[in-house]
Amino acid sequence: MKPLCAILFIFIITSSKTNCVQPESDNKIVLVMHGGAGTIKKGIDPEREENYRKDFAKALKAGYKILHEGGSAIDAVETAVALLEDSPLFNAGKGSVFTSKGTHEMDAAIMDGKTLHAGAVCGVQTIKNPIHAARAVMDKTPHVLLCGDGAEEFANEQGLELVEPGYFYDEYRYQQWKKAKDKEGQKPEHSDDGGKAPANTMEEKHGTVGALALDQYGNLAAATSTGGMTNKRYGRVGDTPLIGCGTYADNSSCAVSCTGHGEYFIRTVAAHAVCDLMKYKNLPVKEAAEKVLAQINDLGGEGGLIALDRKGNFAMPFNTVAMIRGYVKKDGNVVVEIF
Ligand code: ASP
Repeated sequence: MKPLCAILFIFIITSSKTNCVQPESDNKIVLVMHGGAGTIKKGIDPEREENYRKDFAKALKAGYKILHEGGSAIDAVETAVALLEDSPLFNAGKGSVFTSKGTHEMDAAIMDGKTLHAGAVCGVQTIKNPIHAARAVMDKTPHVLLCGDGAEEFANEQGLELVEPGYFYDEYRYQQWKKAKDKEGQKPEHSDDGGKAPANTMEEKHGTVGALALDQYGNLAAATSTGGMTNKRYGRVGDTPLIGCGTYADNSSCAVSCTGHGEYFIRTVAAHAVCDLMKYKNLPVKEAAEKVLAQINDLGGEGGLIALDRKGNFAMPFNTVAMIRGYVKKDGNVVVEIF
């Protein structure tokens, strides 16, 4: 090597070393997910419980693979949520619950913590994977939330898969709906309990799936998808697609995905409240998440949430009997918990 080339070579090597940007998360990758609070009751058939765990672990592994191979947080949460939408066990996509009219109306949202870009759809009936439609709203439109027919037409234009409403029929959900309908027929729609139904009825109505990710570049993302609440009035929209209520991500605080009685999460702007408590009160993610859930609990609301910060710390509080939840960190060890 000629002397000039050698000097140039050494210069390139040293300068590229000093320019090397260390990811702010110390190269941590984390994926945290929930599969709904109040979906599973104690005494569940062990085989069904095992199937829940299997499908949930599959989604965690798929999201982890993306993060492990250097993919982005936003791709990881979208993929993980789409897999749960394809499972009939979870109240999102294929396994969505029935509305009061016997139909299915789904909501989904996704948010990128790096750019604060977000996309969501609500009240959709024929989009196989609402989370893909939410992502397309974020990436391909200047809007944040599309609803009903407009969202479906948009999904079609984007080449996303549309299905016949019959695709969402599931016998287990149908029986669950009939039971809820019978129970609710016995009391007025507006009871004086502040919207708080007895715990045993609420337990059977929840669902929703959500994922949060921290990628190796230090970026956070959140995604949530739901069929809503069993026997909900048709046209009702819950917290899931409302940015700041059921879903939020901001690199400067944390990413959040909620599940539970959506009206309470809307009234407390729950997901954004967790971020605010971290950002303006310097609370650790666990305390911030617990504080918001405590407020929901005090109001009479049921549910849970997951929250993940940029250092890879996370919390998964809930006030229902169970919440399917889990995580996978850099070591690739998949953890799934229910009760
Ligand atoms: N939060 C959802 C909704 O209210 C339902 C759930 O998470 O169970 O639509």
